[in-house]
Amino acid sequence: MIRLFVDSDLTEAARITIGAEPSHYLTRVMRLGPGAALLVFNGRDGEWRATLAEVSKRGCILVPEFQVRPQATTPDLELVIALVKRARLETIVEKAAELGVRRVRLVLTERTNADHANVARLTAIATEASEQTGRLDVPTVVAPQPLSVVLSGIEPGRRLMFCDEGGEATPVAEALSGAFAGPWAVLIGPEGGFSPAERAAIRDLAFALPVSLGPRILRADTAAIAALSVWQSTLGDWRGLEVGPSAAQVN
Ligand code: SAH
Repeated sequence: MIRLFVDSDLTEAARITIGAEPSHYLTRVMRLGPGAALLVFNGRDGEWRATLAEVSKRGCILVPEFQVRPQATTPDLELVIALVKRARLETIVEKAAELGVRRVRLVLTERTNADHANVARLTAIATEASEQTGRLDVPTVVAPQPLSVVLSGIEPGRRLMFCDEGGEATPVAEALSGAFAGPWAVLIGPEGGFSPAERAAIRDLAFALPVSLGPRILRADTAAIAALSVWQSTLGDWRGLEVGPSAAQVN
């Protein structure tokens, strides 16, 4: 069933006006007509069955009928990713949304060759991925900041999984097994890797845990997907503790 992320509050019989773009997607691309049913979520009120009440050139009206899934949060996991080439960064954001991160923080390092990113476009990609993957929220994409600013901004209590291709880090599954299952950030460097000075500064942080993702050098997108997958399977919601997508979702 089609899922749509909306900003509005979801309450019974509210009337939600959606703009031209999502309306075009529903009526033209997905060929829904008045009376059609779909699922809506807003990151706060869980997932609701809704009806496409009105269709017009200006937009559509959705009416939430009843809640099918209560709001649930994903584990407090964030991805801190160095600015890599646009296409690869877009893949990383989409995969991070599917892999359940709460936030994607873009970071500038000595060897990143871009200094800005299209946060609006990356947010749209994260939203679409969240609709497809059955999440009840959309990860936020935080605009690029220098590595030092991001590292000093990590709140007390959050651990940092430093994916260090330097070679002498602990194998990731071993490093994470039995680790603290609270808030974590996963740090992935740029195509050129971290500089020796950056590597030393990160390793100096008490809350940083350097990990190896195996004997081969992975591209940033592969490393992000691999690191997030291992984290979710050892400390996150791949351990089968959470309710999976609703039945309405799967069939
Ligand atoms: N410096 C590498 C390229 C870096 S790959 C080179 O010489 O080509 C981009 C990022 O992916 C790295 O900064 C690191 O965070 C992560 N990464 C890649 N392979 C890794 C590995 N085997 N172990 C840990 N992290 C890895």
